[in-house]
Amino acid sequence: MTLREDIGVPHYSARTHYHGTMGGLVFVPFIDLKTQYLALKDEVLRATDEVFSQTAFILGPQVKRFEESFAQFLGAQYVAGVANGTDSLTLSYQALGIGPGDEVIIPAHTFVATAIGILNAGATPVLVDIDENTYLMDYDKLEGALTPQTKAICPVHLYGRACDMDRVSTFAHRHSLAIVEDTAQSHGARWAGKCTGTFGAFGSFSFYPGKNLGAYGDGGAVCTDSAELNSKIRRLRNYGSEIKYEHPERGANSRLDGVQAAILDIKLRHLAKWNAQRHAAAIKYIERLKPLTERGLVLPDPRSADEHVFHLFVIQVEQRQQIMEHLAKNEVQTGIHYPVPFYLQGGYKELGYKPGSFPVTERIASRILSLPMFPEISDSQIDFVVEKLSECL
Ligand SMILES: *Cc1c(COP(=O)(O)O)cnc(C)c1O
Repeated sequence: MTLREDIGVPHYSARTHYHGTMGGLVFVPFIDLKTQYLALKDEVLRATDEVFSQTAFILGPQVKRFEESFAQFLGAQYVAGVANGTDSLTLSYQALGIGPGDEVIIPAHTFVATAIGILNAGATPVLVDIDENTYLMDYDKLEGALTPQTKAICPVHLYGRACDMDRVSTFAHRHSLAIVEDTAQSHGARWAGKCTGTFGAFGSFSFYPGKNLGAYGDGGAVCTDSAELNSKIRRLRNYGSEIKYEHPERGANSRLDGVQAAILDIKLRHLAKWNAQRHAAAIKYIERLKPLTERGLVLPDPRSADEHVFHLFVIQVEQRQQIMEHLAKNEVQTGIHYPVPFYLQGGYKELGYKPGSFPVTERIASRILSLPMFPEISDSQIDFVVEKLSECL
């Protein structure tokens, strides 16, 4: 098995998959998409066969059905399926007319795609540091990032935890900024009872396989309450065209395909349950790891099951490298989200940030560690991770 380096989704290849105890070892994958597939297999194969039989490969009835069911799940007026979560950000900015010369405020600690979506639209991401307890954007730093060019703010509900949308909305209204929510890690998480993604002009979703709602390939969607913005996204994703061969505006090719939509529609029915299972697993981790906080381990703030859907379970430790190696030796897979802030890396030098630009982001980047987290994680797997962690702390 190899780990996809960026977001740590394991790919099953030659590695034999097994559960339970083997010579005292409990294999704990970082995420277990195979167990989930086996539980859904019959349903998934039936649905994909239907797509193939109807040759409804791109933007067919399955996409329409999923768009409607996801909109209903979110409590949004409209959902438009697109090719992936990076495009859903890009198209959101384009639909809002945000482009060259415009700035968008984002947290410094996030997956790189948050920035790529803005850059693809021709605009400039302006970063703010995060709060070290929530790992979310530090709302007190927002004023300092404002310039006359600021057009939007993109809160990222990182690790599955909802941002304080009262703070974000108040700031956005005061300065007439659009809100584009990066909901790639927070499908179904709520703030004050309302789904993340439904506060802004757009909520931008990714259905990358490892997300809380994941396809079996790439996929994405945007939700909005505006009929006009919804039509705009539908044109932009399809060559800027509503009527075949008429192109009143420039567009992209960024569509959701029927197979992914059919699978997503099946998986959506389980999302609330899966999110609850993730939260329950997080509570177990927190209870069992609490004694280790005396030895320097930092636990995530659990919040309510509504507010935190634990896409990732992230702790902080000293001597992370040693701990990861010890866990790996014991068949416990871990990840780091994210080890080196993107703004310090080659592709993003032009943004002009330097080491020290965002001290909280840089400090936690050297200490964070993501433990195995997926809905099906068992009690014995959690116990095993805790046992192996305590051995080296
Ligand atoms: C996964 C992710 C994205 C990008 O989604 P893709 O579908 O991989 O393009 C954007 N933002 C965040 C925070 C993500 O985790």
